[in-house]
Amino acid sequence: MPPSTAAAPALAATEKPAVVCESVVRIHRHGSIEVQALQGLDLSVERGEMIAVVGPSGAGKSTLLSILAGSDAPSAGRVHVDGWDLGALSTAGRVRYRRGVVGVVRQQTSRNLVAHLTAEENVAMPAALGGTSRKVRRTRSAELLDRLGVGDCARRLPHEMSGGQQQRVALAVALANGPSVLLADEPTGELDTTTAHEILGALRTVSREDGITVVVVTHDATVSDSVERTVAIRDGRTSSEVLRTFSDDGAGGSHVVAQEYAVMDRAGRVQIPREYREALELTRRVRLALEADHVSLWPDGER
Ligand code: ADP
Repeated sequence: MPPSTAAAPALAATEKPAVVCESVVRIHRHGSIEVQALQGLDLSVERGEMIAVVGPSGAGKSTLLSILAGSDAPSAGRVHVDGWDLGALSTAGRVRYRRGVVGVVRQQTSRNLVAHLTAEENVAMPAALGGTSRKVRRTRSAELLDRLGVGDCARRLPHEMSGGQQQRVALAVALANGPSVLLADEPTGELDTTTAHEILGALRTVSREDGITVVVVTHDATVSDSVERTVAIRDGRTSSEVLRTFSDDGAGGSHVVAQEYAVMDRAGRVQIPREYREALELTRRVRLALEADHVSLWPDGER
């Protein structure tokens, strides 16, 4: 049962990854023109994991985020977030999902906040829509702003804060209703490197301390190089993933080991990176062989 009529999520939320996308397709139609923004995308994000999503312009990143945010719907495929089936949301279910399950932070700091409300009022607003009393809202807003290091900005309007402070307040707004998934679209795009590091640190803290699943779409290597998993999207599909392990280098810094993986879809399709194809002149047909612990692949007609 989808949560279209019920108050509870459709699946036993604790047993599943927080985000599951299977063969997700999103087609935009304008008259006779059809654009396939997502073409069978698979993605799974564990509860409490923080991942970065990267990819060239037009790859489908924003479309994916809009679908996860509940502001767009897949044309086909399966999308489950925290047990909610996003392909089967009723209008009321969509409102509940967007208010209570996901929080969103956007790139443009100015678009995240209501210009004529103070930081505290901005943070209190989502809870007000959820029916929480004014006193509780005030206390919670103050706590969240303090926690994100912008308690001193509580009475300031957005234009009275720096870009970094505005993004911290935006993060507080996104967290106000206690979401289980936080979606951030280029959250450091308008910030200098130092401030970007601070926002990234704040995202990581909420992910670790509150067990919130965080999906960050980014072009910023500061962000993508510092998470344990970066998923690359190309032509509307997940094409590769980089997994990183961070360890103490013994000199106060950290040592990073990064390993790139190709992503295999449910039908067994793997995208071979262009540089590999070019280096070995792999074209239409390749030869495969199953070995004891790996698969070998040769150009057509030679060993
Ligand atoms: P990215 O965020 O990776 O730049 P998008 O998700 O914005 O990619 O877009 C993916 C593809 O879908 C692009 O070809 C884009 O032009 C197209 N697209 C996105 N939104 C719409 C829309 N509302 N109508 C038509 N085409 C769209």
